[in-house]
Amino acid sequence: MTILKGKTAVVTGSTSGIGLACARVLAAAGANIVLNGMGTPAEVEKECSAIKSEFAVKAIYSPADMAKPIEIAGLIALSEATFGSVDILINNAGVQHVSPIEEFPPEKWDAVLAINLSAAFHAIRAAVPGMKRRGWGRIISTASAHSRVASPFKSAYVAAKHGIDGLTKTVALELARSKITCNCISPGYVWTPLVEKQIPNTMNARNMRRDEVISDVLLAAQPTKEFVTVEQVASLALFLCSDEAAQITGANLAIDGGWTAA
Ligand code: NAD
Repeated sequence: MTILKGKTAVVTGSTSGIGLACARVLAAAGANIVLNGMGTPAEVEKECSAIKSEFAVKAIYSPADMAKPIEIAGLIALSEATFGSVDILINNAGVQHVSPIEEFPPEKWDAVLAINLSAAFHAIRAAVPGMKRRGWGRIISTASAHSRVASPFKSAYVAAKHGIDGLTKTVALELARSKITCNCISPGYVWTPLVEKQIPNTMNARNMRRDEVISDVLLAAQPTKEFVTVEQVASLALFLCSDEAAQITGANLAIDGGWTAA
């Protein structure tokens, strides 16, 4: 399948997890890829080379820090200079901090808002002029079930993800006549190495079986009691890039095992 042949996709926070899965699925559909995120040079090189060799596309890596507006503008400029365009922008980089509101460190608030929300604004702002000139674009942000509902102790994350919902709707309306769609995807709990590593300790601490930890602790809020997979999120992102999704814009698409239906 090469529906994205000749297109270039910038995926922020794509050195692991959901972002890496999105980069690989878009590459499999023929897009050139700009990887971004934290990681050792060896790990980044491994993922970048794998994308190039497995999918016969071009790929580069930018270490731009999504907390820094000037580096975000540089990421878009580098992508345009290297490949001639940014046709698909996936705002995915994200961090979390968990703390009661009265103890929440202001610098953590600033960092979560910068990386999870302001980075999307800066990247969209930089990428839209080129998309408008070419008359085609897809902007997708990884939001969260926390863009629709809250959980205690996650004030910055919930505020940032609700902000992504509002930013998505606003940009979609502004670009509605420009053949550029803007949507966000809201996963529930996604199976990542980060989640997997918590399981043995929680089994010991609570004297629970693995399946009990998964369903009663980690997935307490998720009715299916199953994790979303990174591939499922990436497949939805790929669909949003297709011509069939041209009339989906301003949407916040839940992929959360029923969490936000409750
Ligand atoms: P992850 O930790 O595997 O990936 C996060 C990515 O962001 C990594 O590539 C990391 O290097 C990058 N990153 C972090 N800070 C950065 C910075 N300052 N500059 C550039 N890159 C930076 O986690 P993930 O679960 O794949 O998360 C990806 C997105 O999905 C996030 O926005 C997260 O909020 C969202 N999300 C995750 C889940 C889940 O259960 N895993 C659920 C809903 C939403």
